[in-house]
Amino acid sequence: MKILDGKWVRDQILAELKPRVDAVTAKGRPPGLAVVLVGGDPASEIYVRNKVKACADLGIFSEQIMPPAETTTDQLLEIVASLNARPEIDGILVQMPLPKQIEERKILMAIAPEKDVDGFHPINAGNLMSGNPGPRACTPSGVMEILKRYEIPISGKKAVVVGRSDIVGKPMALLLLHANATVTICHSRTSNLEEECRHADILVAAIGRPAFLRGSFIKPGATVIDVGINRVSDRARAEAIFGSSPAKMAQFEKNGVILVGDVHPLEVDHASAFTPVPGGVGPLTIAMLMANTVSCAEKRCSA
Ligand code: NDP
Repeated sequence: MKILDGKWVRDQILAELKPRVDAVTAKGRPPGLAVVLVGGDPASEIYVRNKVKACADLGIFSEQIMPPAETTTDQLLEIVASLNARPEIDGILVQMPLPKQIEERKILMAIAPEKDVDGFHPINAGNLMSGNPGPRACTPSGVMEILKRYEIPISGKKAVVVGRSDIVGKPMALLLLHANATVTICHSRTSNLEEECRHADILVAAIGRPAFLRGSFIKPGATVIDVGINRVSDRARAEAIFGSSPAKMAQFEKNGVILVGDVHPLEVDHASAFTPVPGGVGPLTIAMLMANTVSCAEKRCSA
């Protein structure tokens, strides 16, 4: 079973982006990304810090805007409008989740589609649907890069995507469909999920439930892509998953928490390839955000 190394893929993508960033910069200014983080959620702060660092490493200008947790929808709409109007900002990312009082949909709709580096605006969802160019959701497009760079055939294969969220499952299914896979989308109401999954040559798990897809869900020889990132801090739960792995349990004891994907990591030996958690899909999300920012800058520079 081959481990699909997301860092290896990420490094290739970032290396390819560097000359493109330099070319945009040579025309007058570097690509620019604004990241808006409402309130100080510690997990989101880490994500934002990593995004800002990735920009700095590539020579992309980045700006962090951190309005307080009690910001209203109207106030956030004003921030987005001002970023839409600024010529040196090519990409706008509003870090989710937003505080409860903010109407998420209104905010996503307000971001100019040509600066929508997350690919969540309905115009860009429509572009994806119809195969038109436009920014694509970062995590699913990262998965496509893993498949492409490991030369895993997609055309004519059966792909099963478990999860139908707007940010992962649905765009993932469409990207696989455009690559000529025969695609099944499963969700919490799917009857006989195990049977559906067992048909998959390419199985993508994006559910948000630790180790939910067991070995019996995986067809021998399948490629298994685990998008899930779940933090397990409950000992009994960690033991139920990793009881047979002293190394993993030692890691849990040391940190009091362990990251687990949606696929049972100790039951994938009969797959042909697998993305580990961490280190599989995760590293690609920021790389694809950088790629979307550079693409938006290139388009805006040549417009
Ligand atoms: P959501 O919670 O938005 O969606 C989860 C989906 O899984 C839903 O469609 C839900 O079905 C389905 N689902 C839940 N339980 C089951 C079940 N028992 N059987 C079948 N389907 C089920 O999550 P996201 O799409 O945002 O994220 C999914 C996972 O991917 C999470 O672990 C998240 O942390 C991770 N993630 C990782 C990223 C990365 O960079 N690697 C980036 C983004 C997310 P229904 O629609 O019927 O409710």
